Amino acid sequence: MIILLGAPGSGKGTQSRLLAQRDGFKVFALGEILRSEIANSTHYGKTIEASIKKGEFAPLEIVISLLKQHVMHKDFVLDGFPRNMSQVFEFEKFIHENSSIDFDKSVKVIDFIVPCEILCDRLKNRRLCKVCDGALLCEAKECNFCGHYSEDAYMRDDDCNCESVARRLEIFHQEKDLLIEHYSKKGIYHAVDATQQVEEVYAEVKSIIA
Ligand SMILES: [Zn+2]
Repeated sequence: MIILLGAPGSGKGTQSRLLAQRDGFKVFALGEILRSEIANSTHYGKTIEASIKKGEFAPLEIVISLLKQHVMHKDFVLDGFPRNMSQVFEFEKFIHENSSIDFDKSVKVIDFIVPCEILCDRLKNRRLCKVCDGALLCEAKECNFCGHYSEDAYMRDDDCNCESVARRLEIFHQEKDLLIEHYSKKGIYHAVDATQQVEEVYAEVKSIIA
């Protein structure tokens, strides 16, 4: 199991898609799942939307029950979860109770390091595929992941303005040091320079999980 740790815009989503396409990993992309709950106005969606509007994380019990709907096995990539220490503890308890995975032996945490200025630029220029939500390169004619023609790619609302980008990065950085310390103690923390090209980052990720 791989936990991808990295700010919005650090390329986690792109790498988890590559791991799914090329290596058969299943991906639990929390942000996408939460957005689709909101878009479909589900019971959860309404609660999640209210939390996000207040600038808080989605309620932990909802996240855990969304996790339960996805099969847990070792070829799993977690993108965007867990993000803070209460999520970390709840998640590790969940794995312990619901799977045979030996957390400290079979989990790798990969941190995508990108300086803040570059993240802001990336998010402000980010376009997402309308069909699969994959991030597109500016000059791409079609989606790298599903082949959809990229002309109708869209921007996420919270990518459009500097204020919401800055707030998301701030929330992310508040707890990150604690997560790094926690995973380093377990000996499962790995950092990758995610300012590199997509294929170079992928090659490093592969060498970590090899
Ligand atoms: Zn696509």
